[in-house]
This record gives sequence, C-alpha cells and structure tokens, in this order.
Amino acid sequence: MKRIDNAYINGKFTELQGVEVFDLINPSNHEKIGEVVLGNETDTKKAIAAAKEAFKTFSKTKVEERITILENLKKAVEKRGDELIETMIMEYGGTRQFCTVAFQNMVGSFEHMIETLRSFEFERKAGNTLVQMIPVGVVGIITPWNSSNSFICNKLATAVAAGCTVVVKPSEMSALQTQLIIECFHEAGLPEGVFNVVNGLGSVVGNEIVNHPDIAKISFTGSTHTGKMIAKGAVDSMKRVTLELGGKSPNIILDDADFNQAIPQAVFGAYMNSGQACIAPTRLLVPQSKLEEVNRIARETALQVVVGNPASENTNVGPMVSEKQYERVQSYIKLGLEEGADLLVGGSGKPEGLESGNFVKATIFTNVRNDMRIAQEEIFGPVLSIISYENEEEAISIANDTPYGLAAYVTSSDESRAFRVASQIEAGRVCVNGFKHDPLAPFGGFKQSGIGREFGAFGLEEYLEPKSILV
Ligand code: NAD
Repeated sequence: MKRIDNAYINGKFTELQGVEVFDLINPSNHEKIGEVVLGNETDTKKAIAAAKEAFKTFSKTKVEERITILENLKKAVEKRGDELIETMIMEYGGTRQFCTVAFQNMVGSFEHMIETLRSFEFERKAGNTLVQMIPVGVVGIITPWNSSNSFICNKLATAVAAGCTVVVKPSEMSALQTQLIIECFHEAGLPEGVFNVVNGLGSVVGNEIVNHPDIAKISFTGSTHTGKMIAKGAVDSMKRVTLELGGKSPNIILDDADFNQAIPQAVFGAYMNSGQACIAPTRLLVPQSKLEEVNRIARETALQVVVGNPASENTNVGPMVSEKQYERVQSYIKLGLEEGADLLVGGSGKPEGLESGNFVKATIFTNVRNDMRIAQEEIFGPVLSIISYENEEEAISIANDTPYGLAAYVTSSDESRAFRVASQIEAGRVCVNGFKHDPLAPFGGFKQSGIGREFGAFGLEEYLEPKSILV
C-alpha cells in the first residue's frame, strides 16, 4: 500500500502542513490501495509563491529553450508508459483500451504543443502597431478524475509553451497517478518552481488557488457546477479562466445512414471511458420511421458489451470511479424508469458476478423525450438515451435543445448533407461520420459546457495576453 505524504514545490518533494488523510480505493474490488495526505492553504500558498518567483525568469525564456523542455517532458513520460497505464487502471478503473489511449494523449500533448510552438507568432502587427503575446502569469490548474494525467499533461504543455508557471490541484482520487506523473516531470528537469502540485480538496486547495491574488489564470476541467463556482471566485481578482465543463452530446443518425454500422458505433461510443467522458454521445437521435430497427440493433450491441475487470484487454466498460459515482448513475437509471422511458437493456443494480466493485450494467433507454431529465442532465455512466425525430429540422432542434454544447456527432451516407447538419449544431466540436480527434483543432464548449478553448494555437492563446506597443 502506498502512502503519499508530500507536495511537489519548487522542484522538490516537500513535507506537508496538511494532516487530513484520504483513502485511495480500487473501484474494481473496494480494496484500499493507498492513502494520500491532503495539503492545506499554507501548502498551497507555498506552491503559489514558488510559481510566482519562477515566473520572473521562465517568462523570459526563448521559444527554443521551451521546445527543449517540452521534448524532455515527452521523453520522461514516454519511459513510464506501462506504470502510468497500470496505475490508472487500478486507481481509476479505466479500461485497458481507454487507459492506453489516455497515455498516447499524454505523450501527444507535448508533441503537438512543440508543433504549435514552431509556427506560433509571439509578435504580430495590427494596424501600425506591434502586438506582443505575453505569458499571462502563474496558472492554477484544477483537474477531474476521469483522465487525470492527460489533462495535467495537456495543460502543463500549453503553459510551458506560453512561458507560464503552474500550480496543479488534481482530483484527490487520482493521487497515485499524480505521483507518477510528478516523478516523470521531476526527472525531465523542469526549472525549479515552474511546475508545482498540491493534492487536496477542492474546498481547501482549489479554493485557495481560485482566490489567491498571485494566480493570474485558472485552467479548469470538471463539472459545470464547480466551473460556475470557480468563475464567480475568479472574478474578484479578474483572473482569466478556461473552463472545460460537462456535456450531453447528441449523436444524430440521418435516415440515409448505414444503421448496421452507425448504431453499434453509437452504442460503444456512448460507453467510452465507461460512460465517464464529457464528450460521450449520450443522446442518440434517430428517425422515428427507423426506431424499431434501431432498438433491435442497439439492444443486440449492448448485450455484446463486456462490463468487468478493466485490466483485461477486451473489457469495454469498467467500474465507476467511486461508490458515490455508482450511486449517482443508479439514481438516474431509477429516474429514467419513473419518467416513463422504456428500458431496452441493462437497468438497476450490478451485473452478476461483479458485486464487489462499482459496476453498472450497460444500459439503454428508448422512447426518451428530450425534456426528460435523463436526456437533459449529465449522468456520467454507461447509460444511453434513444430519442426519435420526425425530420432533419426536428433532429437539429432536439440536438440544440440542451444547456450544454461540448460535442456532437452526425452520421449520413451523404457527407455534404451531414456537413450541412453539423454546421447548424451548437457545439464546440462536431464529428461527421465517426469519432474523430484533432489535437491541433480548438476544443471546448458552447453554452454551459464552458469558456475558452484548449489545444493547438487557440489553446496557447488562452495563456497569453496581447500587448500593443504604439510608437
Ligand atoms: P468536479 O467538478 O467535481 O471536480 C473537478 C475538480 O475541481 C477536482 O479536482 C475538485 O477537487 C475540484 N473542485 C471541487 N470544488 C472546487 C472548488 N470549490 N474550488 C476549486 N476546485 C474545486 O468534477 P469531477 O466529478 O471530478 O469530474 C467529472 C466532471 O468533469 C464531469 O462533469 C465532466 O463532464 C467534466 N469533464 C469535462 C471535460 C471537458 O474537457 N469539457 C473533460 C473531462 C471531464
């Protein structure tokens, strides 16, 4: 059993002032696998002071120096691949398939930021004026548990590219994964104080970061509820904020699609990261005339979904991260039944033989109305809602009838038709004919899915302030 009892401040593993202990529980079998001592306000202040001091010199570094640092970070993360994947499976319950992709994304963060940096213009002309893009200052990075190290790597890579220093507060449930990534960054030889981490609670360490005057910007990934609290707190010192929040993404299957291909893809897609994915397509929009066919294929597909041990190669859905998250998903399954949706497959309780972990049955509701809470609220588990539409116009209207706007998906055998529909969807990212990811394209939400963008040049700009020098 591992005990993590330090913060990482100013390039050193540092003793904590905080004394509260949080147990780390394997979600597949409820065994205690470790514990983490949580930092407090004093620990956080120390980390912020180190980042502030380091910013004085790091903000003046040249692009070539920062590229070398990013290359070193990439190499250091690459070396620990197996451990990073195994720890994520054990601590978080992510499937091997998902954790392998998450690891590739960690390494990719550094590669893509190097690529972005090579062509990025830190000095531009606007009118007759010279505009300099200046690093914003110390960045507070606050991350969730559902792909913890991918978020940390992406945000750190962008901060380093910009010349910013950081204080990271990861989810306390990810402490073993965090410890490994800190060891990687430590080995990469980042200048002291550029990267600091304090494990702790959102209400303590997170709150200190949000309110501290020496933090210039917050880059947050997490729920819309927490994002709103952070935005409110940040305004007092006029911090810049990037908020990557929740989603309830529509997946429109147009009537000319190949349903035998599109529906299985839609079902597996909804269960990505065991359903604990902000971009999961959890509202499946299908033509009313095809509903029976869709129900049949969706049910057959769900019965093939392997729920179970996340370490095994062929598992599609692992456990929910915590008992709390399991209970939350169960409450939505109950709610779906109460609201009058038809349960097509799955349902309440644990799958047979998996009673000792936080496992949820692969569940699909059909005949869901878009105004039901199971269609409007983020469930964050393997629960898909099938909603029917009469025509293309109604499909678009249902897709947009949500407080969220993170991602959307459109499938059609006619790509130009799918593109036309995609253009009318209110979401930060719309994928046509399949699940796609472009790490150089901006990523972020419309409406209550967030503020700002990550990745590539758009993401880098969020860590910079334009300064006009008029001579
Ligand atoms: P959460 O909002 O509960 O917590 C996220 C982080 O915020 C944690 O580190 C938490 O400790 C911290 N926090 C909590 N209260 C805080 C406060 N008052 N001040 C400062 N920090 C505080 O989210 P979660 O349950 O860990 O993660 C799941 C959520 O994240 C889902 O809603 C999901 O959609 C969202 N998410 C969004 C994206 C995206 O890119 N848009 C990606 C992944 C997850």
